[in-house]
Amino acid sequence: MTEPAFIPFARPDIGQAEIDAVGRALRSGWVTTGPETRAFEQELAAFLAGGSASAGAGADLHAIAVNSATAGLHLALEAAGVGPGDEVIAPTLTFTATVEVARYLGADAALVDVDPVTLNIDPARIEAAITPRTKAILPVHYGGLACDMVAIHAIAARHGLRVVEDAAHALSATWRGSQIGTLASSATVFSFYANKTMTTGEGGMAVTRDAALAQRMRVMRLHGISRDAFERFQSRTPAWYYEIIAPGFKYNMTDVAAALGRVQLARLPGFAQRRRELAARYHAALTGLPLILPADAPPGDVHAWHLYVIRLADEARVTRDAVIQALSDAGIGASVHYVPLHRQPYWRDCYGLRPEQFPVADRAYQRMVSIPLFTAMSEAEQDRVIAALRAVLR
Ligand SMILES: *Cc1c(COP(=O)(O)O)cnc(C)c1O
Repeated sequence: MTEPAFIPFARPDIGQAEIDAVGRALRSGWVTTGPETRAFEQELAAFLAGGSASAGAGADLHAIAVNSATAGLHLALEAAGVGPGDEVIAPTLTFTATVEVARYLGADAALVDVDPVTLNIDPARIEAAITPRTKAILPVHYGGLACDMVAIHAIAARHGLRVVEDAAHALSATWRGSQIGTLASSATVFSFYANKTMTTGEGGMAVTRDAALAQRMRVMRLHGISRDAFERFQSRTPAWYYEIIAPGFKYNMTDVAAALGRVQLARLPGFAQRRRELAARYHAALTGLPLILPADAPPGDVHAWHLYVIRLADEARVTRDAVIQALSDAGIGASVHYVPLHRQPYWRDCYGLRPEQFPVADRAYQRMVSIPLFTAMSEAEQDRVIAALRAVLR
């Protein structure tokens, strides 16, 4: 008997159209930031605008393509004026990229606990963490479920704080009918890392409605140069002349990545639909097991389903590690999102953090497993995951 094929936790969905587009970009003679990147930025802004309930929500959207979401978060905080001594408030249940960028700028991260139902940052905890040094709130739309942005924007307005959304999981998610990326935050940052809801290999996009922030991010994306290479190439003024107006970064997206991204973006509605179908199938099949299933979006809103995170309920008689081992024995990949930052040596020791300060995230962490969810997953593959979970949890 042959072993059934290994089912990974995630797998990018790349077809011939992506391969053709990358080939065209390579043959075009302009492989770095250029026409493909411009088009990708415009198409992403149009996608966000088109998917929003409020008329004209995206008309003034600026999209800045970068080589990772981490770069985009760094640019967004820099442009928002976060600097030495400032504090940014973020959830502990996230990837380190959310807050490492604050440290790049000499600022501090104030980590807070999450809501037990959504696992998103708890607005009440944000309020309690505000100090005179607080400059920004960094909500993370965990797993692709939008945070309570009404509550977060209200707190930000009351205290004069910036909001920068870490939307690494949330491209195609909505909040109160509007696409994440079109809300009244300073900036929103998407990731196109290999396992996200669409990919450019590595890449990200910062989106803002603030023209001044957009301009600053564009300049800082490429060495602090006042005009990028493609602009100079196209312009009537001499192409060799440029001005350095700040010590910027090297965060631009290549046209090779953007060409891949444009095809992925065109397929995104289909990807999102497939993720919703797979999540609904998991919901139906796993109900009744000793599990806490991930919260769906509120009625009328859309969950991006980057992750499907199950948590062991009190009645479960197995440990999280035993579940992951059983899945592994059945040829199924799983993961944990995340070892909360308060348990990571750097963050723990930087701020003297203890698990008791984050009871919800800490308990969730002990009991959580991210199970396979990717667009190319077949129902037969999903049924194998379901059967393996039933066997270990029965
Ligand atoms: C993936 C991820 C990032 C970083 O994205 P990159 O594009 O890999 O830099 C940031 N925040 C969260 C929550 C993520 O999951």
